[in-house]
Amino acid sequence: MVSNAKRIVIVGAGHAGGALAAHLRQYQFEGSITLVGSEELPPYQRPPLSKVCLTGPLNPDELLLRPESFYEQKDIDLLLGTQVIAIDRGKKQVSLAAGAPINYDFLVLACGASARELPVAGAQLNGVHHLRTVDDATRLKATLKSTAHLAIIGGGVIGLEVAASAREMGINVTIIEQQDSLLTRLASPDCSRFFKQLHESRGVDFLLGAQVYALHGDNGNVQSVQLQDQILPCDAVLVGIGSSPNISLAQQAGLSCNKGVLVDHNGITSDPNILAIGDMTQRPVLGLTESICLESVPSALEQAKIAASYLAGRPAAKEQNPWFWSDQYDIKYQVAGLPSLSQESIMRGDMETGSFSIFHFADEQLVAVESINAPRDFMMARKAIDTKQSINPELLADNTKEFKAALA
Ligand code: FAD
Repeated sequence: MVSNAKRIVIVGAGHAGGALAAHLRQYQFEGSITLVGSEELPPYQRPPLSKVCLTGPLNPDELLLRPESFYEQKDIDLLLGTQVIAIDRGKKQVSLAAGAPINYDFLVLACGASARELPVAGAQLNGVHHLRTVDDATRLKATLKSTAHLAIIGGGVIGLEVAASAREMGINVTIIEQQDSLLTRLASPDCSRFFKQLHESRGVDFLLGAQVYALHGDNGNVQSVQLQDQILPCDAVLVGIGSSPNISLAQQAGLSCNKGVLVDHNGITSDPNILAIGDMTQRPVLGLTESICLESVPSALEQAKIAASYLAGRPAAKEQNPWFWSDQYDIKYQVAGLPSLSQESIMRGDMETGSFSIFHFADEQLVAVESINAPRDFMMARKAIDTKQSINPELLADNTKEFKAALA
């Protein structure tokens, strides 16, 4: 717990950085707060970029986490369009690409992650898109207006969400995935199958177990995807092959990093005066002995809250189990806990009706839930996971009984 910090500098004005600045003021931190972000927009939400922003209007102001005036009102110095290029840990100072260095007592890195680039020839052709920022979404949206066939490389969350949006816009979609199934990092095999069937029923084509060798174009514009045994014609490509934590600044400063910047429960890095939060971190997670990277809004918000409590000298905020959501067509997929821990699973509801939950147990304890259009089950299960409540699996599987009948 720290209560004597005077100057806090936050690098990265995204979901985590913006939430941290707001929490610090909410927790009566009275020192100076400088929030530096390389994008031109104040902190904004990214989840709508693959969803309603593609199918409906994209108005950046509507994405803002808080109106720009909030930062002035709360005496938060917001430096937008400003890149931090180095950290001098000895002087406790950060250098900017333009402008005078800024001194800190505590530095918080909230640099997020970047969309991974496709390492093949042709990846720079016009019509090849990534999706991380509002600028990326604006460019993709403009391209989709004249796209008849979109090839999506990667069957993860971003790929599937963009596929759903593109189908709603009447665009033909082929998803190319190198694994034999979808959502491999997140979903159980049952949910993975459900999503494949869902997308097929909406007209999406899949090429699974397929490797991309090159992208071909004409006049600088992408025209096809070269696979091992075929060439897939297309007039736009979305690359959705995951993201890489933005750790170069931390690495240059000599902070301990693995896949992400290594942090403890409070977000403290290997330097006690530097914290890190959000997608750039590799963090401890309830129920796991090793630390992992979690790229989600709930994780960023949780870490922001915990770090703010620490810096404002308040009692530690409570840890939560990881959770996540994704919207595709009229389906809301919600996950709490880590389905990868599952030793045994049971289903409640009916996959055919598009409303069901899969509950995952390990050592007879509920450790994770995946709900498809079943928000009530999700809410109850999330609470049961957090409180380690005993559950009777047979009663839980019986859809004619209320969820609470299964609680011991
Ligand atoms: P970011 O929000 O990426 O913010 C980091 C900021 O730091 C960026 O603005 C970056 O430009 C800036 N920055 C980096 N380096 C520097 C530097 N050196 N100097 C200054 N500024 C710097 N999560 C969910 O839970 N559910 C969803 O449905 C969901 N959908 C998503 C859809 C899309 C299209 C995307 C891209 C993400 C989605 N996510 C979703 C993930 C979620 O948006 C991220 O987990 C969240 O934004 C992480 O917040 P962050 O602050 O760590 O990173």
